[in-house]
Amino acid sequence: MRKPLIAGNWKMNGSAELIEAFGQAFAEDGFSSSAEILIHPPFPYLEAARRAFSGTCIEIGAQTLNPLHSGARTGEVSGQMLREFGVEYVLVGHSERRQLYQEGDEQVYDRALAALSVGIKPILCVGETLEERDGGQTEAVVLRQVGHVMARLEPEQRRRVAIAYEPVWAIGTGRTATPDQAQAVMASIRRYQAQFDRELADELRLLYGGSMNASNASELLAQEDIDGGLIGGASLKVDDFKAICQSAG
Ligand code: PEP
Repeated sequence: MRKPLIAGNWKMNGSAELIEAFGQAFAEDGFSSSAEILIHPPFPYLEAARRAFSGTCIEIGAQTLNPLHSGARTGEVSGQMLREFGVEYVLVGHSERRQLYQEGDEQVYDRALAALSVGIKPILCVGETLEERDGGQTEAVVLRQVGHVMARLEPEQRRRVAIAYEPVWAIGTGRTATPDQAQAVMASIRRYQAQFDRELADELRLLYGGSMNASNASELLAQEDIDGGLIGGASLKVDDFKAICQSAG
C-alpha cells in the first residue's frame, strides 16, 4: 500500500507571513489526511518553516540543491546545508530548472545522488513538452528522463526516490492532463520500473503535477497509478492546499 504524497512547490513565491498562516492552519484540530504532506518554500524561509510546521504534519522540502557538498559556488546551496535545516525531500529535474537553467539529465542525476548521500529523498520530475507530445514522443522522453537517473542508482537508493510526472504544457498554464492521459504515462513509468525490480515498482510513489487544484485533485488522485501530487499555484492558497491534501484520503 503506497502512502499518498502531496507536495507544494512554492517556487519563488510566498512570504514569512504565508509560512505562519500554513503553520496555524495545519495545527488546527479537525484536519486529517492520510497523505504525507510537504511544502517546498524558497531557501530563506526554511528555518521559519521548520519552526512554524513543528507540531503539524507538514514536512519540509527544498526546490533544488547543488551537487557539491561545499566550495566556490556563489549563490548555491548544498544538500548538507539543507539537511541541517530539517529538509526531508528535494525536487530534482523540475522543468523550470531543465529549461531556464539548462539542467540536463546528467545534472539531474548528480543532484539526486547528492541528495541521497546526505539522507534527503529526491522527487525526480519528468515530463514532455507540447511539441514532444504532439510528435508522439511522450513515453520515450519520460522514460529516458526516468531511466537516466533510476537505472544508475543502487536498489536501496531507488527505494528513496519518488517520481513526479509533470507534462510541461500543464505546468502553471491552468491546462491539466486528463486523468486518462496522466494515468497512461504513470502506468508506463511503473511498467518500466517493473522490468528491473517488481517490488520497487509496486512501492514507487508516482505524483502528478500540472495545474492540479482543489477541483480536479480527487479525480486525478483516484487513478490507479497516481499516488499524489506536486502542486505549484494551488499550494500557495492554504484552503485549496488543505482540500487537495484531504482529497488524497
Ligand atoms: C509545479 O510547479 O511543479 C506545478 C505543477 O505547478 P502548477 O501546479 O502551478 O502547474
